[in-house]
Amino acid sequence: MKIAVLPGDGIGKEVVPVAYEVLKVAMPGAEFIQVDVGNERYVREGVAMSPHDLETIKACDCVLFGAITSPPGKPYRSIILTLRKELDLYANIRPFRSCAISPRKVDFTIYRENSEDLYMGIEEITKDEARSVRVITRKASERIARAACKKPGIGKLTIVHKANVLKADELFKDACSGVAGSMGVPYEDMLVDTAAYNLVRAPEKFDTIVTTNMFGDILSDEAAALIGSLGLSPSANVGDKYALFEPVHGSAPDIAGKGIANPFAAILSVRMLLDWAGKPEMARAVQSAVDRTIESGVLTPDLGGNYTTLQVQSAILKNLESLI
Ligand code: NAD
Repeated sequence: MKIAVLPGDGIGKEVVPVAYEVLKVAMPGAEFIQVDVGNERYVREGVAMSPHDLETIKACDCVLFGAITSPPGKPYRSIILTLRKELDLYANIRPFRSCAISPRKVDFTIYRENSEDLYMGIEEITKDEARSVRVITRKASERIARAACKKPGIGKLTIVHKANVLKADELFKDACSGVAGSMGVPYEDMLVDTAAYNLVRAPEKFDTIVTTNMFGDILSDEAAALIGSLGLSPSANVGDKYALFEPVHGSAPDIAGKGIANPFAAILSVRMLLDWAGKPEMARAVQSAVDRTIESGVLTPDLGGNYTTLQVQSAILKNLESLI
């Protein structure tokens, strides 16, 4: 297995090295290729990701990614959006599971359509008017619905949309209902505003959510607050050939360079990588190592602790080594 490692910008450069150490222990036979992409490289060299970088990444099986800073007004397209498109990573899978210190008890997964919606970059901007085109196709909607319905042990699918106002969402709802019906998965549909309310009011009622790109993006951060921090929320971007694993959070410029970023989301993204790579036992060991570290109170400031990123790394590696 060949894995591209892309720390990116800001705290990506702090949490990905920790996840990389975990990955090296969990997959000793893997080959790792470091690729420097992102805004910090753009500022330094005038290029955020070169065609050669993309070829290097495409020669790998999957990617471990940190986060990229997207400064407004810069003339390059978002790296993560480019990678999702180039690698055809159509399903963004974001599990939200409570841990020992979570404020709420939740266990659900958001399947976010990853290839279209307002994030396709079809935009026109003049001095006084800006238009962003929202594209929803039946093909992409059915594809993400199929991915969600295949979630192991799925109980109920909640299709989240805004079909009372938007025709595009009528299509999304119809496509997802059709797939869930034909696959025999129990389903309901919910307006996105109602879903945002219910996620706070009764999050335990959700099992699997399927939604469009932007709604999934927004609801994910809300869901991360339910489990305690963005620093606890991993994700997988999966296609038919490649996969990319990344924390849900961004580059967090407000804490970058302070050595206090929470690396658990990046480490749990490694857990998802291991499951995808067919190493479920090692994935469980990584999960247990994270759980033990949290239970022993080795926590970064976002979780109420006063440990540094590197102290969490030491604790997690010690726990992992005792488990395998
Ligand atoms: P953010 O997710 O970077 O941070 C939001 C808040 O959560 C901040 O207060 C931050 O300190 C905190 N936080 C996030 N991750 C944390 C961690 N691991 N440990 C402790 N605290 C953590 O969102 P933002 O500040 O709105 O965005 C910053 C930059 O990241 C922007 O340029 C944005 O475009 C980019 N971004 C990139 C991605 C990506 O690359 N996939 C995703 C989201 C945002």
